[in-house]
Amino acid sequence: MRAAEPEPGQLLSIGTDGWLAGAPGILRRPSPNHDARPGDEDPYLLVIHNISLPPGVFTGDAIIDFFQNRLDIASHPWFENIRDMRVSAHFLIRRDGTIVQFVPTVLRAWHAGVSVFEGRERCNDFSIGIELEGTDTLAYTDAQYARLAVLAAAIRARHPIRAVRGHEHIAPGRKTDPGASFDWKRFEQGAGGHETTHHSHHPGGR
Ligand SMILES: [Zn+2]
Repeated sequence: MRAAEPEPGQLLSIGTDGWLAGAPGILRRPSPNHDARPGDEDPYLLVIHNISLPPGVFTGDAIIDFFQNRLDIASHPWFENIRDMRVSAHFLIRRDGTIVQFVPTVLRAWHAGVSVFEGRERCNDFSIGIELEGTDTLAYTDAQYARLAVLAAAIRARHPIRAVRGHEHIAPGRKTDPGASFDWKRFEQGAGGHETTHHSHHPGGR
């Protein structure tokens, strides 16, 4: 089904339009669930999430369908929980390292919901959202960490990112992703030990 297998360590770049340039294992699946960033603000926060639909199942394209508002709710009982939800993220990294982009980074995806970062609410306004296909408790794959590192590097090259947080940190008590299964130290090392993720040493401090 895929044109080419992902090459997890391959460098990536984001164009002026906010879309990743074509490369093996990069898919573009536009989501209608987006709008303009107020004041066309340049995003400075990266938010890490997880999702799997239904939870714990990593086959099929339900996440893509969900972000494109075309999920067949009748195809699984759990999907009733997300009926009529209109959400998206900029990127999804699947278990095999395939990256799916739904919204260009220059526009506002609807991933964070009610949230706050450094006292500022509505994190969607100034953040980029990356979903990892997974759960709060099951380890993410090597391919996902490799792809996340190069994707984060591409985002940093295009936008003035100065912090990375989990959804659980900007919506504490409401969200739990990416969860204990996400290895922040490994991410930091993959990202070159960037100082913006040091919150991992202060869990729950945000
Ligand atoms: Zn989330």
